[in-house]
Amino acid sequence: MEINLVSDTVTKPTQEMLQFMFRAKVGDDVYKQDPSVNELEEAVAHLFGMEAALFFPSGTMANQTAIKLHTQPGEQVICDKYSHIYHYEGGGASFNSGVSCCLVDGTRGMITAEQVRASINDPEFYHAPKTALVSIENTTNKGGGACYEVLELKRIKQVCVEYNLKYHLDGARLWNALVAKKQHPKQFGELFDTISVCLSKGLGAPVGSLLLGTKADMKRALRIRKIFGGGMRQAGYLAAAGMYALQNHILRLEEDHKRAQELGALLATLPWVAKVEPIETNIIIFSVRPTLDEQWVIDKLKQKNIHISSMGPGKLRIVTHLDYKQVMHSYVMEHLGKLIF
Ligand SMILES: *Cc1c(COP(=O)(O)O)cnc(C)c1O
Repeated sequence: MEINLVSDTVTKPTQEMLQFMFRAKVGDDVYKQDPSVNELEEAVAHLFGMEAALFFPSGTMANQTAIKLHTQPGEQVICDKYSHIYHYEGGGASFNSGVSCCLVDGTRGMITAEQVRASINDPEFYHAPKTALVSIENTTNKGGGACYEVLELKRIKQVCVEYNLKYHLDGARLWNALVAKKQHPKQFGELFDTISVCLSKGLGAPVGSLLLGTKADMKRALRIRKIFGGGMRQAGYLAAAGMYALQNHILRLEEDHKRAQELGALLATLPWVAKVEPIETNIIIFSVRPTLDEQWVIDKLKQKNIHISSMGPGKLRIVTHLDYKQVMHSYVMEHLGKLIF
């Protein structure tokens, strides 16, 4: 039994999902003639109360398309210093859109309206890059699965309106936030110009993300997606996996959150663990005693077929997900508790 807790992207389609995919009606999505893709796009747009959605092969491409949509070369994006768009998209913001990021020193990946306001460059001061876009992440990835309060997101929105900035949500793990905070997709749909959501993390589809926004923006996004090489043909098989995931795998995220809480509570009692970051969803970030190398922990757990990842010196990450079942959880709880350094 291999137990992979490195990321929630490691899940594989369930038998039921595969059956659902087999039955998908497909067409050529580059001609917008794939009924399963069209159905998924309409369903997700409707779920968020937004006008339109567009299916993407990756979350990175969905975010990069949003940045391209909302900016001109030379302009600036405000985002947290931990942002996925800054750290984990290959420098795409500068490569694809020619923009720079103004990094905000947020808390666990979350920024405040005051911080956004303080980061905006005066448009009259032509020496500085023009601020065009605010991008936030919910839940935060590098921030350890933290979730925003809708109230703070509304306050940031007000600043965006006041300064005529676009507002993007990188919602790769928004489903986790919705379940953990008992929020509704429409609460987010009414705030943002664009939202990206991922189907292949907690929801367990093999591939797929969507970008949501106005009809006019999604029409422009279609062209950008083509330029980025993201036009897919019979993508309906993938869209079907996403549809199945939406219908069957959202509420069960609670299980992932519960197991994350249990792991965190156990870690907090272990003598070699220095600190466990607050756990709100399915990501656990913890640090080890200063005399301990985090790689030793990774290696020892690997001997027990448990795989976790490093988050830099002294820091480790565990992510729970669909394929992390109760038997595995019991096994991990037992062996984690027995580790001695
Ligand atoms: C995973 C992730 C993405 C997109 O990742 P892809 O691997 O390109 O699908 C975007 N934002 C956040 C916060 C993520 O965690």
